Amino acid sequence: MNKGRLIIFSAPSGCGKGTMIAEILKDNNYRCSVSATTRKPREKEVHGVNYYFMTDEEFEQKIKENAFLEYAGYCKHYYGTLFSEVDDYLEKGINVILEIEVQGAMKVMQQRPDSVSIFVAPPSINELRRRLKKRNTETDEVIEQRVAEASNELAQAKKYNYIIVNDVLEDAVSDFFAVMRAEKLKSEFAGDIIE
Ligand code: 5GP
Repeated sequence: MNKGRLIIFSAPSGCGKGTMIAEILKDNNYRCSVSATTRKPREKEVHGVNYYFMTDEEFEQKIKENAFLEYAGYCKHYYGTLFSEVDDYLEKGINVILEIEVQGAMKVMQQRPDSVSIFVAPPSINELRRRLKKRNTETDEVIEQRVAEASNELAQAKKYNYIIVNDVLEDAVSDFFAVMRAEKLKSEFAGDIIE
């Protein structure tokens, strides 16, 4: 049986990444890793489903235990990917999506060169600000912080294998599956057929 692929999926917040992932997860061959974070849960977010919500002390204890494939600081909080969310699933042939920001993505690209990295970009920064305001989950100050962070992240998009612009959701999702289909056809993954 072929192993699953590790997929690094980064997008500035407000890019519609959540909606895209919800569409992708309708396919049972994919799962999204549940990250640990020290930020407070938003309304409707559930521990163990959206994130493992931790205190700084709990997070730092996990760092000491080497429980993280990667972790990073983002807008004054820790975010990290636990090994336990990734490797068992890959072994079972399931593709695992890491929804992570740019610093963490760079670490995973180095440690797991066989991963596929995808950056999801908004049609424009103004459109991104509009979407964040419409979502109405953050204060104006936090929105501006996130818009600034998004501009920094966009500057790094070219370090990813693929860039998908999320203007029309269905097109972006279909681009994602096109990428995965092409990846599957790469000669380096044809080992089982052609020895
Ligand atoms: P949010 O607070 O909006 O849920 O997430 C903020 C940022 O943290 C997003 O860019 C998200 O992709 C990123 N993020 C979520 N989980 C992880 C993680 O485990 N590691 C890293 N490096 N970034 C993460």
